[in-house]
Amino acid sequence: MHEISLAAEILHLIEQARGKDPFERVKYLRLEAGALSGVDISALRFAIDSMVPGTCLADADIEIDETPAIAWCTHCSQSVQMRDRLDICPHCGDAQLQPKGGTELRVLELRVV
Ligand SMILES: [Zn+2]
Repeated sequence: MHEISLAAEILHLIEQARGKDPFERVKYLRLEAGALSGVDISALRFAIDSMVPGTCLADADIEIDETPAIAWCTHCSQSVQMRDRLDICPHCGDAQLQPKGGTELRVLELRVV
């Protein structure tokens, strides 16, 4: 499952940050998953929950936000929000939307003690 490797990647990132700037444990972690990132939030949460015991993330408060993607409609020349790759333009109904973001998973906030 894709989400397991993502969760492992996040854990790795945090361990790396800890190597550079030592802290005891993570208190709060907020992740952002773009609507077009292909990440299944509940699967990712499950994967993280199953990996954190025994790590510095064990007692962390973890939030995962799903953010809408922004796309450019070439037909009516404006930015529109996208929730899905198959979305059409809400203004003109055109299907030729070019995603401009919302395709990645990243760490938004990390609070440590
Ligand atoms: Zn349009």
